[in-house]
Amino acid sequence: MAAAQIAEWQKRAEAFKPLNLKQIEGPIAELDAHLTLRSYIVGYSVTDADLDVWKAIRGNRIAHSSVIKQGLYINVSRWFNFIEESERPVVELASRGKEMAKKAEGKSDQGNYDIGLQGTEKGVVTRFPPEPSGYLHIGHAKAALLNDYFAHKKYQGKMILRFDDTNPTNEKQEFEDSIVKDLELMGIKPDQVTHTSDYFQELYEAAVKMIKNGKAYADNTPQEILRDERMNNVDSKHRNDSIEDNLAHFEEMKKGTPEGTTWFIRAKINMQDPNGAMRDPVIYRCSPQVHHRTGDAWKIYPTYDFACPVVDAVEGVTHALRTTEYNDRDAQFQWMLKAMDLRHVYNWNFARMAFVRTFLSKRKLTKIVDKGDVWGWDDPRMPTVRGIRRRGMTVPALQEVILSQGPSKSITLMDWTKIWATNKKHIDPIAGRYTAIDTKDKVTVTVTGAPATHTDMKDLHAKNPAVGQKKVVFSKNIILDQTDVASFAEGEEITLMNWGNAIVKSKSTTVVDALKSPLATLSGNAPISSLELELHLQGDVKKTSKKVTWLSTDQELIPVKLYEFDYLLTKDKLEEEDDFEKFLNPTTSVLTECLADCNVADLKEDDIMQFDRKGFFRVDKAFKNGEPAVLFQIPTGKGGK
Ligand code: ATP
Ligand code: MG
Repeated sequence: MAAAQIAEWQKRAEAFKPLNLKQIEGPIAELDAHLTLRSYIVGYSVTDADLDVWKAIRGNRIAHSSVIKQGLYINVSRWFNFIEESERPVVELASRGKEMAKKAEGKSDQGNYDIGLQGTEKGVVTRFPPEPSGYLHIGHAKAALLNDYFAHKKYQGKMILRFDDTNPTNEKQEFEDSIVKDLELMGIKPDQVTHTSDYFQELYEAAVKMIKNGKAYADNTPQEILRDERMNNVDSKHRNDSIEDNLAHFEEMKKGTPEGTTWFIRAKINMQDPNGAMRDPVIYRCSPQVHHRTGDAWKIYPTYDFACPVVDAVEGVTHALRTTEYNDRDAQFQWMLKAMDLRHVYNWNFARMAFVRTFLSKRKLTKIVDKGDVWGWDDPRMPTVRGIRRRGMTVPALQEVILSQGPSKSITLMDWTKIWATNKKHIDPIAGRYTAIDTKDKVTVTVTGAPATHTDMKDLHAKNPAVGQKKVVFSKNIILDQTDVASFAEGEEITLMNWGNAIVKSKSTTVVDALKSPLATLSGNAPISSLELELHLQGDVKKTSKKVTWLSTDQELIPVKLYEFDYLLTKDKLEEEDDFEKFLNPTTSVLTECLADCNVADLKEDDIMQFDRKGFFRVDKAFKNGEPAVLFQIPTGKGGK
């Protein structure tokens, strides 16, 4: 379906090529209508449809100038600038020929997908192998998107989602289900879903074969001694045990006997190798635990180092993309393939994703979920795909930021600013505008000279009428924010946004309110409880310095709870040795209660909107039966939040 639409638009791109305004006007107007509520021409991410149409317009000076002319085709113009800014570098790099790609390599590799993967002409099969021990976080999202990109966008290949379920302690079906859903949400469709546990029998047989060929041995050296021996290139005393002994120990392990649990199997590579990963890594462990899929059938589990190359080869994976901390283990991966005579698999490593004041580790994330520091895996403060979505991140923005980083190897500690600023580009053109006034210390205002109470229909978005309309009630009874009113001088001319100017007549404070309000004790000033304004519509709104939001009380005002969140950590970059719990931010949310205009009653869960002068919000809970709506503030990249 999408492919057909893309092809159709690629054909339509021709219509933007004639150097004749009359001929191209129609197609541009159609495109403008098409883009009213869309960020992309087809679907939820950049496709060849966007790129081809963009190139056609870019290459035609007449089309280009009418598109960038302010206000003529606002949707096309927004889309065009967006593609221009974000996609051009990627497009140009990705569409270069092979030689160009080689030249580009070594230069800045930001977003460069021509990473010179070898052997791609024989087909490409990638895999994303999460352990089902938690929800997907943004780092996993990067790994998944890159694998998807190479399998489905850059090459006409295949991508496998493989649950790497070799450690029963932390794994659960719940996590598998959530991973499948989250990938779907990001538009990633694996061609096949498998489990490492599907291959437990093959893996076991491969290990037996290794032992029989003298390429693996059983060991029971205690952990600490093993570590020292590894460090000092010392052979284990079992390194040269007989094949019969090794097989006997492996059988004992397989039975899960107490004796069996003290043994493990190691690959016999080279204890003298300068690369520690080659010093006889452990390939099988005995751990008599119930597995969420295989139950108690197995008491032995292969390690990642062993299972990964075997299953990659067996499943026909051609390119195993991993994060760069596996660099040292590539040699070992290749050794395993050779030792077992398996088909070749290429390795390519890319940078791990890292964000300031964020930990991307399932172990740590599980801990704060279990301790109740957050509301769950989908808490808006969590760096999980669900969490950041709940905070108001859109999928296209997420894809864009991750894909623009590309498969580069250079690790950068990313700031959240960029990703939220990108998100803003996506939500700003389509978020309806509403009004809210802080409930606490709100000021009751009488507007003299106001016309009789009436309701007008206004656009929810001044620049995008397609977002819809809202009711705006005008009357002499309105409320204003305390902070705004506190800044007014008597006699000052101010602007009531989307209404007109008014002159400040008199402010008053009631003693009762003054005693009740904590503001009073803080500043020594009692809050203002009421105000009189005189409407002055002939005044020039350009000349006032204060433009304030207001709400008529002659409508059903909707109670809303607005949450603003902060980072979970107080330290930018956690070091390996840091106890992360010491750096947990004690206050990560601020709640403000407000009253909002009557239109807010119609908002549904997941809607993204803006409160004038307050910012963008995502509706987490809609207004229902008088219960306040709950909204989460969406960061926009300002101030790094
Ligand atoms: P965690 O510490 O969160 O458990 P992990 O690497 O152990 O991370 P897996 O479920 O094994 O988690 O990861 C699945 C895939 O996601 C792996 O290929 C891994 O390299 C990749 N991945 C994990 N974290 C990141 C990250 N921060 N950036 C990029 N890729 C990542
Ligand atoms: Mg892991």
